[in-house]
Amino acid sequence: MAFDVEAVRADFPILRRQVNGKPLVYLDSAASAQKPKAVIEAMSWAMENSYANVHRGLHTLANETTDAYEGARGKIARFIGAEPAEMVFTKGGTEAINLVAAGLGASLAPGDEVLITEMEHHANIVPWHFLRERKGVVLKWAPITDEGVLDLEAFQRLLGPRTKVVAFSQMSNVLGTINPVADLTAMAHAAGAVVVIDGCQGIVHKSVDVKTIDCDFYAFSGHKLYGPTGIGVLYGKAERLAALPPYQGGGEMIGTVTMDEITFADPPHRFEAGTPPILEAIGLGAAIDWLSDLDRSAAAEHEHRLYARVREGLAGANWLRVLGEAPGKGAILSFTMDGAHAHDVAQILDRYGVAVRAGTHCAEPLMRRFGVTSSARASFALYNTEAEADAFVEALTRTQAFFA
Ligand code: PMP
Repeated sequence: MAFDVEAVRADFPILRRQVNGKPLVYLDSAASAQKPKAVIEAMSWAMENSYANVHRGLHTLANETTDAYEGARGKIARFIGAEPAEMVFTKGGTEAINLVAAGLGASLAPGDEVLITEMEHHANIVPWHFLRERKGVVLKWAPITDEGVLDLEAFQRLLGPRTKVVAFSQMSNVLGTINPVADLTAMAHAAGAVVVIDGCQGIVHKSVDVKTIDCDFYAFSGHKLYGPTGIGVLYGKAERLAALPPYQGGGEMIGTVTMDEITFADPPHRFEAGTPPILEAIGLGAAIDWLSDLDRSAAAEHEHRLYARVREGLAGANWLRVLGEAPGKGAILSFTMDGAHAHDVAQILDRYGVAVRAGTHCAEPLMRRFGVTSSARASFALYNTEAEADAFVEALTRTQAFFA
């Protein structure tokens, strides 16, 4: 199957708009991706035709909506090689990591160690910091090289008898580095640790099979995967979820409630207190269907070509510092420009219709590791084109001239 970017773009109404009188060049998909019509229509269709609260109903609309919600769970489970009962719907990747950290934390003791890496997003740092503050857990940081590659020897050395949890991202949202998640999982398991993977960026660009990786938990967000906001997934191995205490209390997550006692539902419902993100789950299911119709490795190659084209276009730019040069990295270009603040760079690029993100990218320890306070970031998605890559290079070159 050849990758037809124009056909893909036709599915995204928003990509036809103009910004500041210029065609939109959307290079901020690592923060949140645009949505294909299939997602927009699936959510509208449900609201127009078949909507009610799920699970507790005995009427037709409640049953139809429950089928759609649980059907989405099944689709997403198949997409990552898991069982539906191993998939917990959350409001996002952040909530998924908080859920698992809080649950694992319940059985950690002072002095137990959690190993993370220097390239983590705050979503995979702060929940572990909570355990440091609240449980006396020791947080260890696996270092990265100047290229932005995880130092595997150091990672191995940091694993020890007190390591209880190892948590790392599949792909860095700043550097684009793709980590060898199956190898890291095997190393952590050999030390007896539970493995939590932050797949928020990784799942967007790679096919994921959680059973092959063999991780214990895998978290991701819907909105970066061409689905809606307000939905995320925590995959957990059945036996791991069964051993995890509930995160929030409320309706749907209980077995029985009396005035003196509570019992809990089995996973995944134990972790889905209250009315879940029903429409969002349906939207994510539609995004997965849409993605599954594409040749995903051709899409990833397309993104790599765009990245390579931009790097070539900027080859002579001695005013540019790129953060992250890991071999095989994904199509994310984080950079600083001599003499210009990243925020100013992003604002000037916007005048040319080019949308990039600037700031710390919720990765302050990583920013400090590279000795910068902020960077600008252009992130490429499967709907970007070579013409957009060239438009970005041209707009960035003009932006630099502004500061020179
Ligand atoms: N981890 C990584 C690597 C991310 O890029 C992000 C989103 N920027 C998150 C976690 C958090 O995802 P969300 O904001 O959707 O909860």
